[in-house]
Amino acid sequence: MVTIYAIVKRNKRESWHNGFQDEAELKKFITDAKQLYPDSKIYLVEHLHPLPIDPTKPKPQIKGTVLWCPYCGEWRRFNKDRKTSKVTQYCTICRMSTKDFGLKTSNDIWPKALNGMTEDGKKVIPKKGGKKK
Ligand SMILES: [Zn+2]
Repeated sequence: MVTIYAIVKRNKRESWHNGFQDEAELKKFITDAKQLYPDSKIYLVEHLHPLPIDPTKPKPQIKGTVLWCPYCGEWRRFNKDRKTSKVTQYCTICRMSTKDFGLKTSNDIWPKALNGMTEDGKKVIPKKGGKKK
């Protein structure tokens, strides 16, 4: 079983498809969908196996937040969803959020405190005798 989702976007609508038995079935689906809806765009997404940044794919210089989406395997624009959070941003294709572990890791966007630094780049000095959480 292939764990890839095929997202078909057309006329501002989208549909997600999965459950393909093998790569051949997935390829056939893509070919059929393109024939049926030549104006559609098809994206492949894999949420189980995040992909590292591909050095052959340059980061596009476009407006907004551009991050490597390890699930699309592409540089993607990330947008905020005003309904749910003012901080979290989502991949415009597969909707994975910037809270995701794989996304934080591949883009190195963990809060700086975790690297021994504070937000403004100062070193975090561990407090002595502090209570354990
Ligand atoms: Zn994505």
